[in-house]
Amino acid sequence: MNRIASKFGGSSVADHRQFLKIQAILEKDKRRSVIVVSAPGKRHSGEAKLTDLLYLCHELAKKGMPVDSPFSLIRDRFLEIEKELKLNAGIAEEMEKFHRQIVDGVDRDFIASRGEYFSGRLMAKFLNAVFVEPGEAIFFDKAGRLDPKSYDALGKLFSDPSKRYVMPGFYGADAKGRIKTFSRGGSDISGAIAARAAKAELYENWTDVSGLLMADPRIVENPHPLDIVSYREIRELSYMGASVFHDEAIAPVREAGIPINIRNTNKPDDAGTMIVSKLPEVTRYDIAGVAGKKNFSMFSVEKTMMNKEVGFARKFLELFENHQVSIEHCPTSIDTMSVVVASEEIGDKSEAIREDVLRILQPDNLDTEHELSLIAVVGEGMARQSGMAARVFKALADARVNVRIIDQGASELNIIVGVANGDYEKAIRALYGEMTRTTKD
Ligand code: ASP
Repeated sequence: MNRIASKFGGSSVADHRQFLKIQAILEKDKRRSVIVVSAPGKRHSGEAKLTDLLYLCHELAKKGMPVDSPFSLIRDRFLEIEKELKLNAGIAEEMEKFHRQIVDGVDRDFIASRGEYFSGRLMAKFLNAVFVEPGEAIFFDKAGRLDPKSYDALGKLFSDPSKRYVMPGFYGADAKGRIKTFSRGGSDISGAIAARAAKAELYENWTDVSGLLMADPRIVENPHPLDIVSYREIRELSYMGASVFHDEAIAPVREAGIPINIRNTNKPDDAGTMIVSKLPEVTRYDIAGVAGKKNFSMFSVEKTMMNKEVGFARKFLELFENHQVSIEHCPTSIDTMSVVVASEEIGDKSEAIREDVLRILQPDNLDTEHELSLIAVVGEGMARQSGMAARVFKALADARVNVRIIDQGASELNIIVGVANGDYEKAIRALYGEMTRTTKD
């Protein structure tokens, strides 16, 4: 039987009512047999995320302070789910042991991983499913990267297609067998690994929104939902700030050609967003979306005959490497070259970088600008059409936004513009408005 791997995020497992919703979702499609869960998230805005409470326990224990107040919040959340669902999963005893481990100084990743662990234990019991321990099959190599042998190891633990499996997200084990977590939000990555290991036909990512939107709703009023988007587009959009899904979660499924469906646990009938390797011939809009980030700095050098000076670009870029600053973009013209970096990367290194540029490159002119925003108009559909850039710049001109940087990758997947931070919201609204003005259906 074909299988679907379904990952449920923090809000989807926040309390026993959410567990019941998950049960109903699973009942609707029997292919949903590989389940990955996060730690319970917030039930309301004033509440702390369980994973944050676990990190707090570690901080307190490290300082020799009592952990009882955050610990009791954690314990009570799990005990409540166990009680409300009448599970008898032995959580109280395990919690007691865990409390002792924290006080005895067990390491940070182990503590953080227990949110997912207990969530998984309860879910497995509730669904009468096989509990899969990721510490036995998701391996990190010495450099902290996922070891590809994990796919086979985990595949073996999911071997019976007639069974239902539940695995906690967010962690695996390092080369020495110690529990190690992914970065924050990493249960998405665990879900993707599980989908690939189980050779699933689909990776569902259940959250509390009905998929992605074409722009940030805090800036654009009622942006359209994104029905279908390619892996490449989603990489660009999430890199430029659109977030729902951990960007490292794309690679495991993309390589295996497994589509991702972002769904809403609270509105299970909404179709959500499909992330696929190949878009259909006709999509509703030419673009997938508009996304951006504020606070970039740009170092621009001007030097006559720069284009003839062999090694100029290398020296310029190397200088940032020497300062351990990663580069976002480098727009160039015949005699000018700019390097755009996130301002937080620069910190207090700006003066030192300027001094190096002047000494090493001997430019005619060096200009440094801060408080810039980058905005990407993303869409594979743009490659097939002329006039897209014209529409982008006309929209910005009509909105009286001065464009400071222009960058278009050779793939024509995106057009990136840089504007002053003060123009950021206005520019996004203008671009979104123009690029969604007409549909193709
Ligand atoms: N619970 C972890 C976090 O809060 C991982 C996750 O939910 O994906 O980051």
